[in-house]
Amino acid sequence: MYKNALKGGIRTAKQAWKLKNEFGKLNLDLAKANSDFQEHLCEAARLIHNFSPPPAAATTLNPVSLLLKTNPSDNRRHSDEHTRRKVVASHNRWTPNNSRRLLTPDKTAFNACFRAETGHLNALISSKQFVKVQKQFYRDFSSVSLGAPLKNSDAPLLGDLCSQYRAILAHTSADVIPGENHPQHQCQQRRGIHSQKPQQVLKEDQHHQRKMAQKAEFERLPTNVVPRHYELILQPDLKAFTFTGKTIVQVHVKEPTSQITLNALDITIDSAELQFECSKFQPEKIVYSAENETATLEFTKEIPAETAGVLYMTFTGELNDKMKGFYRSKYFTAEGEERYAGVTQFEATDARRCFPCWDEPAIKATFDITLVVPKDRVALSNMPVLKEDPLPNGLRRVRFDRTPVMSTYLVAVVVGEYDYVEGKSEDGVLVRVFTPVGKREQGTFALEVATKVLPYYKDYFNIAYPLPKMDLIAISDFSAGAMENWGLVTYRETFVLVDPKNTSLMRKQSIALTVGHEIAHQWFGNLVTMEWWTHLWLNEGYASFVEFLCVHHLFPEYDIWTQFVTDMYTRALELDSLKNSHPIEVPVGHPSEIDEIFDEISYNKGASVIRMLHDYIGEDDFRKGMNLYLTRHQYGNTCTEDLWTALQEASSKKVADVMSSWTQHKGFPVVSVESEQKEPKQRLLRLRQCKFTADGSTAEQGDDCLWVVPVSVSTSKNPTGIAKTFLLDKPYMEVVLENVEEDDWIKINPGTVGYYRTRYSPEMLEQLMPAVEKMELPPLDRLGLIDDMFAMVQAGHAGTAEVLALVDSYRNETNYTVWTAITNSLTNLHILISHTDLMDDFHRFGRCLYEPVAARLGWEPRDGENHLDTLLRSLVLTRLVSFRSEEVIEMARNRFRSHVNGTSLLPADLRTTCYKAVLQDGDEAIFEEMLNLYRATDLHEEQDRISRALGCSGDVKLLRRVIDFAMSGEVRAQDSVFVIVAVAINPKGRDMAWEFFKENNKQLLERYQGGFLLSRLIKYLIENFASEERAKEVEDFFQANPIPGTERTVSQAVETIRLNAAWLLRDQLQLTTYLRESN
Ligand SMILES: [Zn+2]
Repeated sequence: MYKNALKGGIRTAKQAWKLKNEFGKLNLDLAKANSDFQEHLCEAARLIHNFSPPPAAATTLNPVSLLLKTNPSDNRRHSDEHTRRKVVASHNRWTPNNSRRLLTPDKTAFNACFRAETGHLNALISSKQFVKVQKQFYRDFSSVSLGAPLKNSDAPLLGDLCSQYRAILAHTSADVIPGENHPQHQCQQRRGIHSQKPQQVLKEDQHHQRKMAQKAEFERLPTNVVPRHYELILQPDLKAFTFTGKTIVQVHVKEPTSQITLNALDITIDSAELQFECSKFQPEKIVYSAENETATLEFTKEIPAETAGVLYMTFTGELNDKMKGFYRSKYFTAEGEERYAGVTQFEATDARRCFPCWDEPAIKATFDITLVVPKDRVALSNMPVLKEDPLPNGLRRVRFDRTPVMSTYLVAVVVGEYDYVEGKSEDGVLVRVFTPVGKREQGTFALEVATKVLPYYKDYFNIAYPLPKMDLIAISDFSAGAMENWGLVTYRETFVLVDPKNTSLMRKQSIALTVGHEIAHQWFGNLVTMEWWTHLWLNEGYASFVEFLCVHHLFPEYDIWTQFVTDMYTRALELDSLKNSHPIEVPVGHPSEIDEIFDEISYNKGASVIRMLHDYIGEDDFRKGMNLYLTRHQYGNTCTEDLWTALQEASSKKVADVMSSWTQHKGFPVVSVESEQKEPKQRLLRLRQCKFTADGSTAEQGDDCLWVVPVSVSTSKNPTGIAKTFLLDKPYMEVVLENVEEDDWIKINPGTVGYYRTRYSPEMLEQLMPAVEKMELPPLDRLGLIDDMFAMVQAGHAGTAEVLALVDSYRNETNYTVWTAITNSLTNLHILISHTDLMDDFHRFGRCLYEPVAARLGWEPRDGENHLDTLLRSLVLTRLVSFRSEEVIEMARNRFRSHVNGTSLLPADLRTTCYKAVLQDGDEAIFEEMLNLYRATDLHEEQDRISRALGCSGDVKLLRRVIDFAMSGEVRAQDSVFVIVAVAINPKGRDMAWEFFKENNKQLLERYQGGFLLSRLIKYLIENFASEERAKEVEDFFQANPIPGTERTVSQAVETIRLNAAWLLRDQLQLTTYLRESN
């Protein structure tokens, strides 16, 4: 199929798309196809470019390296002939006989074809997508899988994807050879990668440092010439997948120079001209650097200092399918015709893929954007339309109003076919939500949220939203969850569309949070921007905190702050206890490193320490400080210290002193506490802090640190109040509590606000237990207590039987979030137990624990029932399906039947429960039935739900079919790994999935080209093993079959296997006794 198609010639990338899908459906032998592919690739290359490859190159190139190696030639048109020859000679590679022919339609088609093969997958290495998609994944998965055993320690994996990314960059950097014939930029002025380099950070992150050392030192753009204003005109061709553009940039030359260096990647600057002092100058040459992602215009004449010039450039590029830069996104018309929209995604460093620009957050300018588009398409950008003019050939020109001063990564345009709903916020901002055609009503929920959020933030920050309109738009192919482009926020469909009949409450809640998050960025990020990506957490940590403030305001019934703890806080702790975590503020330079820090440390830990700070200085001062910070730095850029300064001024507290230990060090402390009754009403507390480690070992030298910990304490006298607060800034400290009697309990860290774990003395813990049982302790304290206890058990500081006894006192628990915490912890235990013969006993324990709450809730939502009870019902019933409750499974089967035959539609909240119940013991007929359901829906949310539930099947043969299904063209590449993971985390599928991987690792590597998806897959395939033999087997396997870019994942997962093994060895006996005796 492949072969024939290639022989026939590929003319459009659209065909390549189809090919790709056909290829997936047929499930061809990838290895064979690949060798054929290579052969014909070279043939095609020869035909198209009239290349004459040396035989050696032809036999060793694989499609990807060929792809990478041919790309940069686009950029070579203007580089000097000598350099080009040098490149070719040194890389022993073929060169086009005539570079003028490079942009022929054939060339475009050629690239488009092979990009279609690999680009889609490579695009998924964006870590921003990773974090956001993962968030959804956790929420959805926690109620799908056998035990939802997705551990929350993924962020270090991003290192793997970045080394993959770096490899790509290394390939593409071949077009310009740095060195003797590449003149140094005379005016290049080195700026620090980040404004301040904390020594400790560098010392701590040796791994990172090593990585940095392996590469040439990264340099930011020189600032001798800076832009003030861009006029940007873009004309996408939605059929040929190309675009042409023009910029007219007003520049300010600060120092005399004959060179202008700016960012450009994968675009060709066709012409450039600088105008100043009434004369026009053309650059003698344009030198591209793919490594640095820059283009340097070299003039023969020196431009004097303090010159105001105008730089004209025209350029062309491909409307790519990499979901970055200016790219194409596929959709279908009502008649089923396949069409494409043109969409942008620039954060962090991809504006340079769309137009030549100074693509750094601190180099801000204003923008006048114009689009030339087919007359029947919707055209959107950051600002409202200023003027529209008809043009010949069915086109029209749309000019948008001037933007405020802003960073390039926030510029956006969209051209496509959409419906929309609109409204106005009470402070007069026009809000529109754009949806796929015919799905207008699915935008109403997001519209309602957005119109309410704008005035809320206006009031909260005391600064009005600076733009006249706010558009939200659902994009069908979208790498991230959502992107905060100023005035034009783009979303993945599942993060914005609500279908009242088919959207679960959980999803709706996620959408509210996402909308709240992106709109918070309009102030925090867009109005005030981090100076450099080292301070990215200022954007992400802050927005991740504020999204909860805002949803709490709009939907108090969600009790969202309690959910913050299981959603953000405990996940941050789990990741941050690993040896390969990293500090919040992390020095980054090259784009590949920047990608790496869109991780759970920036988001979850960032939000958690801001919540701690918010609690420490109080709401009023926090708000005052925020207003001060935003007002002082509006339209400017900041570092972390600027935020501390403002909050310090507002609160008169030593914010910087307290916070620097949390943002500049990785990890967090465990506070151990003992108490002694002194007088009848006086209790002495002895507190110690040291670094908490996942394996219970003492922190390595240089890894330990002293944190400034704001500690609060509550007592049984007033469980919801604070008895005392103090700063624990030494390794050891004694504190006296007044008015505490001998029988009173003491709770450290009430509200689970402090970013640390607590380890109580056995006596103190014993005193707390009755308060849990009687639910005297508030929910967040019950939750924090159990989560800390499980962490102690995993680290070997406490026994599993002890914690199960503790869980037993939660039997009367009513709070959804507390149940989530219990469920997450039991899930980890479930993995261990799946390696023993205790499964039946554990299921009995589980049924016994969850049945009372299930009985209270029943299957039918009560009229006006509270939000959390709805969430709790699906959590508990799904658990009981896992724990093999006959009664629940029977009921679920009946309901599924009525759903399928159309008698009674299942509520979206209970679908996962029922899908799982039927699949768990289902036969082939059920499997086929589920596939039909999958094929019948066009709602992405429902497709996710079904495809991930398939992994629950109890039949290994069917599980194997699930893997084949995941690999087929029916599942989008961006989703398929999640489906395989669902199989791998099912104990029944664990060994089979690992065998599948071992047999097919080469093909998988071909398919995914390394990258984060493959890393994730590897992680979940192996980390649930629990024996030294497996650890060794995995190690040996990857030693013999190294997969570049997944090294860290592998060693991390191997470490987890050993942690599991140690846990099992330590506790199996007492676990057996406990489970058998308690049942
Ligand atoms: Zn964000």
